[in-house]
Amino acid sequence: MADDAPNPEAEDLPPFKIEKARSGRSKCKGCRRPIQKEKVRIGILIEGPFGPGYLWHHLSCAMRRRPEDVEQAYAEKVWEEGLEVPSLESLRAEAEKMEAKKAEKKEAPYVEVAPTGRSKCKHCGEAIEKGAYRVAVLRNVEFYGQVRSGPINVHPKCVAAELKAEDCATEPDGFEDAVRENTKGLEPAQVDEALRQVGPLEE
Ligand SMILES: [Zn+2]
Ligand SMILES: [Zn+2]
Repeated sequence: MADDAPNPEAEDLPPFKIEKARSGRSKCKGCRRPIQKEKVRIGILIEGPFGPGYLWHHLSCAMRRRPEDVEQAYAEKVWEEGLEVPSLESLRAEAEKMEAKKAEKKEAPYVEVAPTGRSKCKHCGEAIEKGAYRVAVLRNVEFYGQVRSGPINVHPKCVAAELKAEDCATEPDGFEDAVRENTKGLEPAQVDEALRQVGPLEE
């Protein structure tokens, strides 16, 4: 299709779609993990830089982030006859449970201010100064034959290199959004400054 030719079908696109994922290639915009093939997903139509397109979400992730959209999609029954979808009540309950769990647990990546000068950057091995920003990212470690990811602290300037490491479990894709969402106890301007120190990331 030519660059700025209006898409003749664009106006017909419904604002929401609920369907089974046709492949395992779409990624959930909520949790950023892939949506498995055959899993019921919800598409929310947005006007993107290349025209309208759907942002795909797991139903439960959409329920946490955009409950009004999910409620509307359910009210309009935007799925094909015969598709089995979970009830709104069960989605609400699941979303509440996940929110409660999240409130208890700090999820990497996040930024914090080093409370002492004793922590070391797990990327370069140098000390992290007291009062400086440090960034927690996830690293995979093998534990009794099972791979688990746990948070490690690194200098903001070491983040870009650390995210390229093979055992790093934090993705550059969506990194800034994730940091803003997960960081607690800092002002937005502080998070901005820490992200500025992180600098650009290669996706
Ligand atoms: Zn998700
Ligand atoms: Zn470092």
